[in-house]
Amino acid sequence: MVSNVQPRGSHFIAGAYRSDIDGPEILSVYPATGEIIARLGAATAATVDDAVAAAVEAQRAWGRKSGTERGRVLRRAADLLRARNRALSELETLDTGKPISETLVADAASGADCLEYFGGLAASIAGEQVDLGHSFGYTRREPLGVVAAIGAWNYPIQIACWKAAPALACGNAVVFKPSEMTPLSALQLAEILIEAGLPPGVFNVVQGRGETGRRLVEHPDVAKVSLTGSVPTGRAVMAAAGAGIKSVTMELGGKSPLIVFADAELDNAVGGAMLGNFYSAGQICSNGTRVFVQRKVYDDFLTRLAKRTDAIRLGDPLDPETQMGPLISEAQRDKVMAHIATGKQDGARLLTGGDQPHLQGFERGSFVRPTVFADVQDGMRIAREEIFGPVMSVLVFDDEDEVVARANDTEFGLAAGVFTRDIQRAHRTIANLQAGTCWINAYNLTPVELPFGGVKRSGVGRENSRAAIEHYTRLKSVYVEMGDVDSPF
Ligand code: NDP
Repeated sequence: MVSNVQPRGSHFIAGAYRSDIDGPEILSVYPATGEIIARLGAATAATVDDAVAAAVEAQRAWGRKSGTERGRVLRRAADLLRARNRALSELETLDTGKPISETLVADAASGADCLEYFGGLAASIAGEQVDLGHSFGYTRREPLGVVAAIGAWNYPIQIACWKAAPALACGNAVVFKPSEMTPLSALQLAEILIEAGLPPGVFNVVQGRGETGRRLVEHPDVAKVSLTGSVPTGRAVMAAAGAGIKSVTMELGGKSPLIVFADAELDNAVGGAMLGNFYSAGQICSNGTRVFVQRKVYDDFLTRLAKRTDAIRLGDPLDPETQMGPLISEAQRDKVMAHIATGKQDGARLLTGGDQPHLQGFERGSFVRPTVFADVQDGMRIAREEIFGPVMSVLVFDDEDEVVARANDTEFGLAAGVFTRDIQRAHRTIANLQAGTCWINAYNLTPVELPFGGVKRSGVGRENSRAAIEHYTRLKSVYVEMGDVDSPF
């Protein structure tokens, strides 16, 4: 039996919890046991309208504060997040099933980094002065207004921070809709921001499914939409935002390549491939799920990979020794198992895993054993479709031009990685890969100082880093006449 995590209300609007008994029920389920840990309600249209109205009202004063004042609030929130990391990590583990060994270091902690980073940057957000000879001009970097932010279920509090921190630093207000699968931690973030001094209404949370998200996106008082989700959802959300001529940030799915050249330090490459496929039970958008290994080291790579994969400890997510927890839901487990069945049918060689483990005390958990397919061909469905589970496809290649062409042969373009000791080859290969976020001799590290985002169908815009400021502000140009008006009339 897990501890009581039932929030005091489903939504957080204008600085207070709100319940909305007319909306459909949303259940938070602990994926390791199937136990219902919290019951919430989806927002009705009236609640969405209230949240947006609260944000519109609060944004006026927030947007007029100095960057220094806004930054101070964000930095205080970062400190509070860190001080409560243990409790927030346990909550995130219960809501997502991710092991506590991960949530303690990767979720609220990275959210705190993001708040701290944009808190530090807020005071230096500025336009520029432009000399025009006899006159001059300047630009003002202004907030957009109200941002509708919509999250996926894999990194709930991190996604909330990645969207809220730059938006708030720039003087916007936010209405955040978490995934219905993981409604809990955004409410904690809302409380923490108030405690840090954020005025009520500047950050609001509404719960709901796609329908609530759609209402938010279409709301006439929403100026910008930031989504983390799948490509089909991104397509629908971008079209709806386009109808209202709203700006968007889209962080969508991927089927990223990880290329291991024969000269790579092989244990590092194996470690990188495992990190890029099995962390968070494979539920990471930027995962390097197509691992291309050069023929000369292919067998050696597979031998080392199978040995280390078989040693991954699955089990109780709250046990600090556990390395892999369940998937987010039974539906996601079934989807991943269907992909595994397809891989077998299509003729890929199952190297290890491929089944659901029987774990005592967690018989109803949605676990899938870490799975590696070898001898995968480019056209197989497991090599083309995003699986979002612990399933790695390993493909063999011979030369650099060939592997670059094959790596780029996908509709996605979120991330890519290269393992090699040859620095010229490393930079040349990365330059030729169609991906927004790349690693050399590493995988899946996303420090807040570097932009994160995709190309092709994997997304539009960038999160994190100074680049995010562009996506949460607009420029106003001001021409200042220093002489007389030169009018022909
Ligand atoms: P979904 O696309 O199913 O949902 C994303 C969010 O959008 C959810 O909150 C969902 O609500 C909401 N939503 C669904 N339909 C609409 C709509 N018509 N209008 C507005 N909002 C809507 O993604 P998942 O939650 O299943 O997350 C997994 C996906 O997210 C994967 O494809 C993964 O690659 C991607 N992802 C991308 C990342 C990136 O940064 N590029 C990072 C993490 C994940 P609800 O679910 O409550 O119905």
